[in-house]
Amino acid sequence: MSDVEPGREEMELPAHEIVARAIVPRFPEATMKIDENPNGTTFDIYYGEKLLLSLNKRGARYFFPTRRKRMINWERVRPSGLSRVTEYILRDLAEADYQVFTATDREIRKRPFHISRFKRCPQCRGAGGIRIIVRSESIPDEDSQMYTAISRSVDLNGAEIKCTICNWIGVRGELLRRG
Ligand SMILES: [Zn+2]
Repeated sequence: MSDVEPGREEMELPAHEIVARAIVPRFPEATMKIDENPNGTTFDIYYGEKLLLSLNKRGARYFFPTRRKRMINWERVRPSGLSRVTEYILRDLAEADYQVFTATDREIRKRPFHISRFKRCPQCRGAGGIRIIVRSESIPDEDSQMYTAISRSVDLNGAEIKCTICNWIGVRGELLRRG
């Protein structure tokens, strides 16, 4: 189920089932509920009690915050494009701080954004410790120049960056300009 071969399975399964079954193994904390109803089968993907995605024969609807549109319609996607749609959805989940993985089992990181080296922490006025927050218990060393991990159990109140020198957290707009 986890390694659907594109081209072969796609002939047999409807789009929503292909995409739902491709997402689940790469989002280990998710659970999928399958609802058979007269209009067809609906695949609902949950994180705990929270419904994140609902996939049916018309499309995939988002219930988590994203900058992208909230609905993907299958009629606009060619069968060969379904694996790309799967990647889009996983990327959107990563941007929303859910822990999801690439097909080769690497954690998908939020897109890095540029933090000017001329910007400083508003608390300690240091410049070298600003990192992008990812919701995780830890991150590999190779990512530590760009990211810092904060457990999902900590309320960030919208913070996106952290100063690893003094532990200040906040958003880019709060950084001070050097000088
Ligand atoms: Zn600081």
